[in-house]
Amino acid sequence: MRVGFIGLGIMGRSMWQHIYRAGFPVTVWNRTRSKAEEAVKLGAEMADSPKEVAERSDLIITMVGDTPDVQQVVEGEEGALAGARPGSILIDMSTIAPEATRQLAAAAAKKGVAMLDAPVSGGDIGAQQGTLSIMVGGEAEVLEKARPVLEPMAKSIVHCGPIGAGQTVKACNQILAGLTLLGVVEAFAFAKKAGVELEKMLEVTTQGAASSWALANYGPRIIQGDLKPGFSVRFQQKDLRIVLQEAEQMELPLMGTALVQQLLRAVQAHGGNEDGTHALIRIMEQLGQVEISPKK
Ligand code: NAP
Repeated sequence: MRVGFIGLGIMGRSMWQHIYRAGFPVTVWNRTRSKAEEAVKLGAEMADSPKEVAERSDLIITMVGDTPDVQQVVEGEEGALAGARPGSILIDMSTIAPEATRQLAAAAAKKGVAMLDAPVSGGDIGAQQGTLSIMVGGEAEVLEKARPVLEPMAKSIVHCGPIGAGQTVKACNQILAGLTLLGVVEAFAFAKKAGVELEKMLEVTTQGAASSWALANYGPRIIQGDLKPGFSVRFQQKDLRIVLQEAEQMELPLMGTALVQQLLRAVQAHGGNEDGTHALIRIMEQLGQVEISPKK
């Protein structure tokens, strides 16, 4: 199976390499050409457009930014669908809106192209180590055909339901990530203001029922004053916007998620758009008039 990979950002630049090392020939395209040239040095072939990627591939993966970006590389004049042959498979691994995903799948189906949505969790480290959690929407038999290409990037692949279901589960993931993070920064503020050593609080709470990935991973970084991403505020805000728009359509109130989105907007207003989401600690510091995370 010849694989095409579109989008070599923080995630994509590591992900394609696992596929290549598993023995599949990979053709890449990236808007900023220099990143594709780097990939060529590591064994990829380079195409001049998403259309050309699709012409040369049986299975095409997109890993770009937001919903309009995926629409552009898939449906644009030079997009993947302009070059894809009937019988090929398109897999979007970006995090985008479930409804837009269903529309893309319908456009793909008109060309005889089967589509899966397969967003991921696990961050840049998961992409580097090939330990992503992949949540898949689409037809089960298409997933089985694609599985050998997805497996080298993943520690888990779960078929969540029909097209769009992967994006819906990813949205649930982002609700949980946001609200857990809020709990982490509030606990840090409380400990600091009450005069307890932050290391002790972290040592105890990471071993109990209140532990979480966010606490175990962001806690030490908050103590060290390391607010680099990981996962940027910019991307979390994109994902929470998707969540809240879908919730609005479903007439579902999500009070906690809306609060986290507003607090992260305050992080953005303070210049933290490209920081990791745990930069929320800076807003907590201001609200509580307490210094928690050393400034570097
Ligand atoms: P990134 O580093 O910002 O890279 C984005 C990639 O998309 C770049 O290759 C960029 O090209 C390309 N791109 C963006 N807009 C485009 C457009 N209109 N046309 C063509 N190419 C375009 O992002 P990332 O961290 O790799 O994330 C990619 C996706 O994975 C996002 O949907 C994100 O939400 C999701 N995700 C990210 C993480 C994470 O921890 N980073 C975790 C889970 C899921 P250029 O090189 O030219 O800018």
